[in-house]
Amino acid sequence: MVCVARIKTAEHLFLTCGFAQTVWHLVSQWCKLPPIYAFQVRDLLDLHLYIDGSAKSKKVIQAICHMVFWCIWRCQNEVVLNQGQTSMQKIMGDVKGLSSQTVELLNFLCYHVS
Ligand SMILES: [Zn+2]
Repeated sequence: MVCVARIKTAEHLFLTCGFAQTVWHLVSQWCKLPPIYAFQVRDLLDLHLYIDGSAKSKKVIQAICHMVFWCIWRCQNEVVLNQGQTSMQKIMGDVKGLSSQTVELLNFLCYHVS
């Protein structure tokens, strides 16, 4: 479930927290990536640089990673600030939905703006 730790650093929120680790694990499975090993937040931001694939697939993975950060952040805020409810199912639904929209936008921009 979502973390209730009192001290939240970026490292904890996005990297070492069990909640975040589960999200990254599910994202790696969804994207058919090898398991994600990150030692600092920078490793997650640069993940697309270390995967095999075309320039386009790297861009897609980069966009998805940015969405994961956003979804973890938003999910934590929803729980902490609004006493909202969340679940792994909901956050993964958000990640997949927002990522699909972002990838469509990237495709649109690549096709129309070049
Ligand atoms: Zn935590």
